[in-house]
Amino acid sequence: MKNSPDLTPNDVYWEPALETLPEEELKALQLERLKEVINRAASSPFYQKVFKEYKVDPAKIRSLDDLRRIPFTTKEDLRQWYPYGFLTVPKEKLVRMHSSSGTTGKPTVVFYTRRDLDSWANLVARCMYMTGVRPGDVFQNMMGYGLFTGGLGFHYGAEKIGCLVIPAGPGNTKRQLFLMREFETTVVHIIPSYALYVAEVCKAEGIDPKKEFKLRIAFIGAEPHAEGIRQRIEDFFGIDAFNSYGLSEVNGPGVAFECPYKQGMHLWEDAYIVEIIDPETLEPVPEGEEGELVLTTLTREGMPILRYRTRDLTRIVPGKCPCGRTHKRIARITGRTDDMLIIKGVNIYPIQIERVLMDLPEVGSNYLIEVHKKETGDKLSIKVEVKNDFFYEDMRYLEKLRKKIGRKVREEILVTPKVELVEPNSLPRTEGKAKRVIIKENVNY
Ligand code: AMP
Ligand code: ZN
Repeated sequence: MKNSPDLTPNDVYWEPALETLPEEELKALQLERLKEVINRAASSPFYQKVFKEYKVDPAKIRSLDDLRRIPFTTKEDLRQWYPYGFLTVPKEKLVRMHSSSGTTGKPTVVFYTRRDLDSWANLVARCMYMTGVRPGDVFQNMMGYGLFTGGLGFHYGAEKIGCLVIPAGPGNTKRQLFLMREFETTVVHIIPSYALYVAEVCKAEGIDPKKEFKLRIAFIGAEPHAEGIRQRIEDFFGIDAFNSYGLSEVNGPGVAFECPYKQGMHLWEDAYIVEIIDPETLEPVPEGEEGELVLTTLTREGMPILRYRTRDLTRIVPGKCPCGRTHKRIARITGRTDDMLIIKGVNIYPIQIERVLMDLPEVGSNYLIEVHKKETGDKLSIKVEVKNDFFYEDMRYLEKLRKKIGRKVREEILVTPKVELVEPNSLPRTEGKAKRVIIKENVNY
């Protein structure tokens, strides 16, 4: 909900005072919580070892800058100290476990105390309320329930606000559409690649969501996606779609979220300290420059994590947000440090290719990048779904389109890919995070 003079702070903000806390007060609150969390972390087997090794004395942490005396925590550390090495409470105090999606190897597990679940649900509620969700909204949660944090994380946030929650989970698209129509769903939470697929199904079934549904808002996240994908979702469903960022290691969703101004995602600084570092030198980058996001949890009880290297690439959006929230904003995630492809010596992130594709009206909702590993140098090819309206044009037209896509991609990534146009809805889809890149070893290119 955008600010306007006839609204009270409670109309706009879930926690007016906290969300608009002046910068100095926010820093003071962070420092107080940082001291607490470092003290607490000191009792976990992992940080006990780290603090000893790096001679960190929690009593000597006196300013936010002192955080830099503590080394980074990495996914490898979580794996090595799996499963209980980060706990600061006895196991009996834990009430929930989740795990990461494991897209990059063995999954990592996270544990929550009752207090952790409460504060997590509150953060998610804060995010949802910020976009205009209110008691009485019907919230269809199309994210995986289970070990993945996206399902249950939003479920409890929405209940806290007072929405009617439909725990639909992902998949079974026709049933999703039935639920939307039957129960007049107003808000959905959905993986962006799946939202595009739902749009395809609507088209095939002759459903016009703008006329037949009551949808207002979508939360899209859990995977990198270009602005063009948001645009397509908003245009087709006639809704506002908000980017939602989180990761299981530091809770799950509710870490950073777009406000109605959609100029970056507010990262809740009363719950996290944000740093952006150069992933090579590990030094902080100048404010506004892109680097790897590093997060310190300030309120987690059972499993605090300090200076966690998320591997996600973003930057701080400079300036103040017109919504009045003082918490810093991060820009759309452009990829993960481990997503980077190196082709002919050029560093490429899949989202650069996605950006180009999604800006082309002829391109359908799915694509697949293939990297062909060869001794003579890796090669890149892209399979691109073409929209129904264009796919059945004559061959000359398709050949021109194929060349155009190759040229546009080359302009962006400086490498010429082999482009193959494929039928609408012919590429494999997942119900969870999309798999955009396939690496092929020594095959014919
Ligand atoms: P998981 O711990 O399995 O929930 O995965 C978290 C990871 O998903 C993050 O570290 C990001 O790489 C990715 N992710 C989550 N939300 C977003 C988003 N809004 N945009 C881009 N990537 C995201
Ligand atoms: Zn804002």
